[in-house]
Amino acid sequence: MDDCIFCKIINREIPSKSVFESDKIYAFHDINPEAPVHVLIVPKQHITSHNELTTENVDIMMDIHLAANEIAKQLKISDSGYRLINNCGVDAGQTVFHLHYHLIGGVPMGSKIL
Ligand code: AMP
Ligand code: ZN
Repeated sequence: MDDCIFCKIINREIPSKSVFESDKIYAFHDINPEAPVHVLIVPKQHITSHNELTTENVDIMMDIHLAANEIAKQLKISDSGYRLINNCGVDAGQTVFHLHYHLIGGVPMGSKIL
């Protein structure tokens, strides 16, 4: 996708602070962190949003979740805890239309989701 900011980050056309990389996944620090740990976990394949997951591409979810586990351990928040958040669509506040999960932690967040 030529005009996708996350595709450009994955292709190193836009700089980012890398946290994790595999053949299918790239993860990097959010440019505008909302917590001490705020990492974006992104499939290298361009998938627009959670709505576009299908039986053909859903295997990527396993890689995303296992990457989240690794990154949480690496950044030492696996014991204290974290949130793994996907915003899908306008009401959820999705601003970048390339599937991604926010891994957020390093601070107590309480029990409210909204
Ligand atoms: P969302 O609102 O779920 O679509 O999240 C998009 C996230 O991408 C936001 O938290 C932004 O701060 C983050 N973001 C946008 N541009 C960049 C960038 N160039 N590098 C790192 N994070 C970015
Ligand atoms: Zn993209």
